[in-house]
Amino acid sequence: MHEQINNLPKRAKDKHKENKTFFTKLKRKPPKQLDYIMQELHEEEFERTDCLDCANCCKTTGPLFTNKDIQRIAKSFKMKEQEFIEQYLRLDEDNDYVLQSVPCVFLGTDNYCSIYDIRPKACREFPHTDRKKFQQISNLTLKNTAICPAAFNIVEEMKRQIQL
Ligand code: SF4
Ligand code: SF4
Repeated sequence: MHEQINNLPKRAKDKHKENKTFFTKLKRKPPKQLDYIMQELHEEEFERTDCLDCANCCKTTGPLFTNKDIQRIAKSFKMKEQEFIEQYLRLDEDNDYVLQSVPCVFLGTDNYCSIYDIRPKACREFPHTDRKKFQQISNLTLKNTAICPAAFNIVEEMKRQIQL
């Protein structure tokens, strides 16, 4: 897995043009059963891929924290929301709360998340490959193929299965 992750940015770059063309066509004419196809591809991939062997998303890109995430996590830490924000978060260029630094401060050396049950919504949903109307998040997915080996494999499988 380690080598696979190291090679991922280059492999994603090599596939970028092909993937971009594919997603442009997908957006124009998404298959009727796309939600179903994505659900299947997502489940099959995550039967093979163990996130605990990877944690590359937690190591290289932090999640966005919604107000609800902040409320929930601060409450569990018995902290005031403002205290939690000051200790762990910063505002990014889009005015969203994100981690002050990566790897994520809540990631253990064993790749376990210390706040797993109350983790941000963005962490629960990453890499969004089972998202409904998947064609609408193609730019995000293109970026994620360079971070997430599962997202990379799912896009490769999409290209094999979906004839556009
Ligand atoms: S979601 Fe993707 S990047 Fe994150 S740990 Fe799982 S396989 Fe790795
Ligand atoms: S909160 Fe947990 S799941 Fe989210 S980035 Fe940090 S370690 Fe990973």
